[in-house]
Amino acid sequence: MMQELQTDIYQIQAPLPGKSITLIGGTHGNERTGVEVVTRMKAMIESGELVIIQGSLTLIYGNPRAIELNERGSEPHADLNRAFVTDLLECDPTGTYEDARAREIAPFLQSSDVVIDLHATNKPSEPFLASKDSERHQQVYRWFPSKKVLSDPQYVLAGFPATVDDYTDVYGGVGVCYETGQASDLGRVEEVLQNVINCLKDQGLVEGHVEAPDATRDIFELTEAIILTDEGFTFAEGFGEGSWEAFAQGEVLGAHGDTAFVAEYDGVIVFPKMPEHRKVGKPVGYLAKRN
Ligand SMILES: [Zn+2]
Repeated sequence: MMQELQTDIYQIQAPLPGKSITLIGGTHGNERTGVEVVTRMKAMIESGELVIIQGSLTLIYGNPRAIELNERGSEPHADLNRAFVTDLLECDPTGTYEDARAREIAPFLQSSDVVIDLHATNKPSEPFLASKDSERHQQVYRWFPSKKVLSDPQYVLAGFPATVDDYTDVYGGVGVCYETGQASDLGRVEEVLQNVINCLKDQGLVEGHVEAPDATRDIFELTEAIILTDEGFTFAEGFGEGSWEAFAQGEVLGAHGDTAFVAEYDGVIVFPKMPEHRKVGKPVGYLAKRN
C-alpha cells in the first residue's frame, strides 16, 4: 500500500532494493494533466494494476492549495517552482505557503535517483522537456515525446538553481521537467501516464521490457529573460502567444514602453507570460537559442 508520509505525499517501498523515483504533478496547481496522472498512478498502485517490484516510488501533489484553487500558486505570483533554492533547509522559513510546502517536498527530492515533474504551459505549446542534457538525463527524458529540450545551464529562469529539477540535480539525482502541452488540455493524460510507466519499467521499478523510442531532439538553451519595467512591455505582432515562436537576429520582438526590443541573435521565445501573471521586475517571457 501507498503510505501518506506528508500531506499529499505518498510512497510505496518494494521489498527489493532499487531506484527511488518521484513523480510530481501540480507543482503549478492549474496544470491539470500532471495532477491527473498522479491520481491515476496512485489508483493503479492501490488497485494492484501496477506493481512496484523494486525500489520505491513517491507520488507528490506539488502544491495542494494551488491545486484546490486551480491556480498557478496559492496567491498571485506565488511559484512553488522557484522555491527550491539549494540551501532551502538551512535558511529560515519565509512564512509563505510555497516555502513551507517546498520544505516538505525537499527531503524527497534529495533522496531520489530520478524526479519527474509534470508541468503544462499557460499558452498553447507542443509538449517539450526542460532538463539538463546529460546522458543520465537523456535516459530518463527519452520516454517522453518531445521534439525539443530546453536546458538552462545559466539558470536564466530564476537567476540561480530554484526549480524542482534544479534541486534534484544539485543533490545528485536526475531531475526532468516535462511540459505536457497547454494547461487546460487534459487530452494527453493516458499518454503521459504510459510514458511514466515506460520510464519506471526502464528503471526497474515495474516489470517488463520496453523499447526506447528513437527520437532526434533539438536542444535549446535559455539565454535571457525579458524583464518587465515600469514602462510596460508589449510583444510585437506574432510574438508572445506561445512558446517556440522563432525569431531572427535584428527582428523587433516587442517594446519596453516606446523602446523597441530587438533580437541580437536567432532564437525562440519561451514561456511568454499572460498579462495577469506579469509583474514589474519579473520576466514577461524568455529567449532561447538552439545549441
Ligand atoms: Zn508549470
